[in-house]
Amino acid sequence: MKNRKKRVKIIIPAVIIVLAAAALLFFLGRPGGTVPQGSGVVDPNAVSRAGDSDSFASIGENAWFYYDGHLVKYYDPALKKSFVLCSRSNCLHTGKNCEAWFGNDVFGESAIAGVAAEGNYVYVMSTGETEGSFDRERPVNYQIIRIDPSDGTRKVVAEFNNKMYDKPGDGKEYLINFDCGNVYVCNGIMWFRTQYMSTPGETVNDADVRWTQNIGVDLNSGKTINIGSRDYECRILTMGSGYVTYVHDEYDDTVLMREEFYEQLTEKGRVEYNGSTYNDYTDFLNAVKRNSGVTSKYYLYHLNDGTTEELFESKTVQVPALFDPSVLIQESRKTIFGSHNDLLLIREYLPDGKGEYSLRHIRASLYNIKDGSLEQFFESENGYIPSTMLDGLNGILADGSVIIYQYSEDGSKTEDWVYNVETKELRYIAAKEDVGYSFRPEGIWNGGFIGTVYQLNGFPEGAHGDYFPMSYAWISREDYLSGNMNALVRYKIK
Ligand SMILES: [Zn+2]
Repeated sequence: MKNRKKRVKIIIPAVIIVLAAAALLFFLGRPGGTVPQGSGVVDPNAVSRAGDSDSFASIGENAWFYYDGHLVKYYDPALKKSFVLCSRSNCLHTGKNCEAWFGNDVFGESAIAGVAAEGNYVYVMSTGETEGSFDRERPVNYQIIRIDPSDGTRKVVAEFNNKMYDKPGDGKEYLINFDCGNVYVCNGIMWFRTQYMSTPGETVNDADVRWTQNIGVDLNSGKTINIGSRDYECRILTMGSGYVTYVHDEYDDTVLMREEFYEQLTEKGRVEYNGSTYNDYTDFLNAVKRNSGVTSKYYLYHLNDGTTEELFESKTVQVPALFDPSVLIQESRKTIFGSHNDLLLIREYLPDGKGEYSLRHIRASLYNIKDGSLEQFFESENGYIPSTMLDGLNGILADGSVIIYQYSEDGSKTEDWVYNVETKELRYIAAKEDVGYSFRPEGIWNGGFIGTVYQLNGFPEGAHGDYFPMSYAWISREDYLSGNMNALVRYKIK
């Protein structure tokens, strides 16, 4: 698969989005002329997970934008209804005449890979509409397209293809996979990732990632920023006004080895490593991680002058998954988990007396990027900082407050703790045992917190299929901080 739209995702705490049959829904556009403007992004620290179905809506002031198959849609929170972003009257929204419609890409899937509202426009990451079928010798053109919601007109802001970038240096031609499962927008910049895959003539396979580059596109100017050109695994973690943090995983002894394994995998379909045979690349990589170890290096990239500073490095440890403790997952012992203004939220797993690690035995600190100070504020043997974003992007450092969840031993209830970064007050606000769900704030909207509602089993409420996990909710800051969860206003986006 060339992209990750259909991949089963595991978000920490190991929420598996169960694929279920999506109901066939019929959406009507609004009568002409009433399609809302992009309405901007309300929270300057907000990150739109434009290509991520785990939390897919880009929150604008009057409308929340997302995509559903071939169509760009929006949800009107005042009407509690979804609409196609099309102003044409009597449009059936089924083909090119529709303002919201995008056709198939060369892989025969919807060419929409991400939607984000910014300023008065809606931006679509497109994997390139085409009539043809996949031909690996032909460049695939990815485009960022700006839509004016008032009249549906489109403009190409930036375009990328697999001939445009420096190659890893071995003289081969590579196919690029723009990693469109992860498209993010923050402060007017759309971020995504390119990964060099196999060379022409080889089998296209997710396993063939050899080189990564993160790309930011200024949505106003179309100017491109390239950061983190790295061998294999390099990904953006958080973004703020003026900076981006990213991590690069370095395998202690496998850079040379990996080339050899790639050859084995593409030629024989299996890999021999350390006395075992692997035909699944993920299993193989996990074995490599167990045997050789991984050092994750964390970097801060300054957008104003293009400089990069290394923040810290951390070894990978094995931790039992929350959904099944017999499954061990690889986690960096220390990582960046969120950001707000100049503060980065750092989470660290702590070992027990036997040197074992757990996802719930954590310490949380705030790192100030201006002065380099580190302030520890939370430590618990049964706490958890859930990532509400894929790859741990900007989780729960919202509106100057760090929000932490503590789970009971059997997972039957969660408790919220809030740390105010200004007053330095850490306080307990609400247990969820009575309400039977967990609300996880992800951003600011309409003077309060907006986020996703999870069931206590860790699944997003209402999830039914890859594109519709969404039970959003909003609560005023005052109600949330006083633990008044009955005030939660729910929005079921479908
Ligand atoms: Zn239409």
